[in-house]
Amino acid sequence: MKRLGILTSGGDAPGMNAAIRAVVRTAIGRGISVAGYVDGFSGYVAGQFSELDDRAVGNIIQRGGTIIGTSRCPEFLDPLVRTAAANRMRADGVDGLVVVGGDGSFRGALALQDECGVPVAGVTGTIDNDVFGTDETIGFDTAVNTALLAIDQVRDTSESTGMMFFVEVMGRTSGAIALHTAVAGGAAGVVVPEAHDEITVLIEQLRHSIERGKRSHIVVVAEGDEAGGAFGVGERVGKALDHPYRVVVLGHIQRGGRPTMRDRIVASEAGAMAVHALLAGRSGVMIGRQGGKSVEVPLTEVVSRQHPPPDLALLALARQLSG
Ligand code: ADP
Repeated sequence: MKRLGILTSGGDAPGMNAAIRAVVRTAIGRGISVAGYVDGFSGYVAGQFSELDDRAVGNIIQRGGTIIGTSRCPEFLDPLVRTAAANRMRADGVDGLVVVGGDGSFRGALALQDECGVPVAGVTGTIDNDVFGTDETIGFDTAVNTALLAIDQVRDTSESTGMMFFVEVMGRTSGAIALHTAVAGGAAGVVVPEAHDEITVLIEQLRHSIERGKRSHIVVVAEGDEAGGAFGVGERVGKALDHPYRVVVLGHIQRGGRPTMRDRIVASEAGAMAVHALLAGRSGVMIGRQGGKSVEVPLTEVVSRQHPPPDLALLALARQLSG
């Protein structure tokens, strides 16, 4: 192997740059050059890349987002498009590909390997923590910490005014960000898609706290909750308790920003391991985290199985400690 390609795909996540840096520096250390495809599979299909040498990845480990861009590329669902792209990649002298993204991106990577014989390795990069085979995805830790910072700030106003706050965090299908943010942020309650009885319990719990004179009430709501996100939950609870409330939707604020130490380290390890796997002839693997260690997981398993739902013990803990 003389030349590797790398792309970042799907939603951006903090830590993607740390992964790019690790891939490039590990490859260069082994005498291999790296092409950085622009904007995910879109650049791969169009044969658009920039040369990633040692200097190109300097001063990026601390930056959120991805220096090579990312996108969603519906054309890549077409096998003919994939075959043409793989041929183009070979014509450009690229022998293997590291894909940084979520499970959709890994489906694309696996299809490239299975249909076109392209050696591929995956590195997680998504804040949602919804990829099978890894305890956490790169970007999740930073996203939770960002949400936490917002909650700490909102709490000042809640404490000063006595108003309830419903803070919506990302997570269309998974309450992982919400549960972690709620426990770490000392929230009064949390509403996630995985649980169904929470609103009634929440109303009684808040009623009890208000009666006891508690002033700050923060409720974390996952955007994908069936009750209609923070606006829906706020309206129901506010009406039931006849208590003033405000809604804060964090939205894309959670995607960007400086990656935490944990995301930088996990991304650095994963990027290096992805290159090692490809050089050792092990294609079709994703570097995941299991039990505090970085491990290779077959992509076939990653794309065919569902990430287990987040630990609902965190829901019970959030309730128990809410005061
Ligand atoms: P994520 O990787 O974060 O899950 P998406 O699901 O949007 O994000 O996938 C990112 C891109 O991966 C898609 O825009 C498409 O180019 C590619 N992709 C997703 N699913 C497939 C698939 N089944 N086959 C081939 N490519 C896919």
